[in-house]
Amino acid sequence: MGECARELKVESWELRVESVLMRVLIFGLLILMAVSGCREVPTEVVPLDAAFLRLSPIEAAELPLATRFEMPMGGENGALVYNAQPFRVTRHLGDDWNGIGGWNSDKGDAVFASGTGKVVYAGVPGPGWGNMVILAHRVADEGAVLGWSVYQTVYAHLESMEVKSGEVVERGKKIGTVGTADGQYWAHLHFEVRRSDAVYPGVGYADAPLDRVPPDAFIKAHGGLAGKIFAPAPMEVGE
Ligand SMILES: [Zn+2]
Repeated sequence: MGECARELKVESWELRVESVLMRVLIFGLLILMAVSGCREVPTEVVPLDAAFLRLSPIEAAELPLATRFEMPMGGENGALVYNAQPFRVTRHLGDDWNGIGGWNSDKGDAVFASGTGKVVYAGVPGPGWGNMVILAHRVADEGAVLGWSVYQTVYAHLESMEVKSGEVVERGKKIGTVGTADGQYWAHLHFEVRRSDAVYPGVGYADAPLDRVPPDAFIKAHGGLAGKIFAPAPMEVGE
């Protein structure tokens, strides 16, 4: 009888120690979260843990053929947006599209697929980026062995994303809205064009242009503004 009571006593003492340890652990975690400035957890975190992911030759060949590209927030000539930080200015790897109202006036404005393509990434790659969508396109390229090259268009700092990885989107489809990357910047769209079949979030600034090409020059070269006010229907790809 006495033995049994002692065992119970020991057991309850162990339980007490365990619960105290648990409380210390939880308290410690809470302090750690507070100290590290733990932000609101983004709704859809899709980390790319590999250094990069390369589209296989079959995946590349199956990408939709994009015959035409447009400005992702409408035309600059339409005077509703301007390029706040052009390609290669202060080592920038893209263009920053901003509403002419400045500040956060363009927050929540629609961001459109610049060209018909496939969503190869939609998520939050890391701090500084916010929501990011990457579309991969097959683009006619006379110099390439197959007659086409893979280009990617990158849309970052989005407030919301309206597409998922693997989806094929037509040029002009709304893929998300202009955001601030969780309040880190005044609302704008960081837009990049990459000539590469390697999919990775990367960096927004670098000493060398890497695989990036000047977005506005690319769109002008692949647009159709010369003499045409209206764009043709998005699915002109015949595939
Ligand atoms: Zn930028």
